[in-house]
Formats: sequence, structure tokens, C-alpha cells
Amino acid sequence: MEKGLLEPRELEERGKRLLLDLMMDYAERRIGVEYLDAKYDDPAPEAEAHIDCADRVTICKAVCCRLPFALTEKEVRKGAIRWDFGRPYLVARKPDGYCAHLDRDKFACEIYDDRPASCRLFDCRTDARWPVWEDFGAKTVNVDLLKKVFTSAPDSSQGR
Ligand code: SF4
Ligand code: SF4
Repeated sequence: MEKGLLEPRELEERGKRLLLDLMMDYAERRIGVEYLDAKYDDPAPEAEAHIDCADRVTICKAVCCRLPFALTEKEVRKGAIRWDFGRPYLVARKPDGYCAHLDRDKFACEIYDDRPASCRLFDCRTDARWPVWEDFGAKTVNVDLLKKVFTSAPDSSQGR
């Protein structure tokens, strides 16, 4: 920059590109950790999604409990939620791809009172990244999404 060969803006842009390349490289090689920002800790009850899951799980197959997501540092330190040792700090999953805390017989969360912020805030009625329903009111599930999630390897999707 002192020699006038580079503008500060160019240097900043190059730095950002390099950072992105490094992040992609680390993600591919599974180096580093993922965690959810602390701003999501302890969401207010009114911010939580309240959905009639019991009437829907036979249709949606609790697909939300197969989606990968990261914990906050506070959740990790509290110790109630298991996380993936091979990919910290995503929630741990069983070999079948479901969350380690899902009771598969009842399709119920075994740590309901301690469930992560990510679970409390996830709203399958409106989530744009994971559109579970074609028509929520009519209970018509998005078959394409279910196929995608149920055929993917447990750790191959992007976090919610
Ligand atoms: S996808 Fe929606 S309806 Fe189905 S279990 Fe998850 S939150 Fe409940
Ligand atoms: S913690 Fe509970 S609600 Fe969250 S993904 Fe696991 S089983 Fe589902």
C-alpha cells in the first residue's frame, strides 16, 4: 500500500476472500468447531415455536430432529446435551441420523426441558431453509425435503 500498488479496499477484499477459502477448506477437512451465537441463548417463551407435533409426527417423521445444528457455548458447558465428538459442537446423532436425544418409539425429545435454543426456535411452518410442509394447514408434507434429509448422511447437510 505504501508503494501505491494496492488500495486499502482491495486488501480488505482479498483478506475476506482468503478467510472464506480457509473456512471452506477447514469445513471440508473438518477442522475447527461450529457453535451457535450466544445471542440465541435462553430464548423467551413467546419466541419459541408452539406446534401440534403430536398430531404430525407420523407425517413429518420428526424430520426436524434429523437436521444438523450447532449448540451455543452455554449449552455445551451445561452438559445436558450430547454433541458430536467428531464434529464439535453439532448435536450428537444416532447412526440412523436422528438426534441422540430423540426417543424413537414415541418420537419425543428426551431432554425436552433442556432442549437447545435451536430446537426451541425452529419453526417448521415458516423456516425457509428447511421447508417441511407444502401446506401446513392441510398437513401436506414436503416430500422432496423428507427424501433429501432421509437419504443424506447424518452430517452432510447444513445446520439449521
Ligand atoms: S417437523 Fe414440525 S411438526 Fe414435525 S416434529 Fe418437527 S416441529 Fe413438530
Ligand atoms: S434435542 Fe430434542 S427437540 Fe432437539 S433435535 Fe434432539 S430430540 Fe429433537
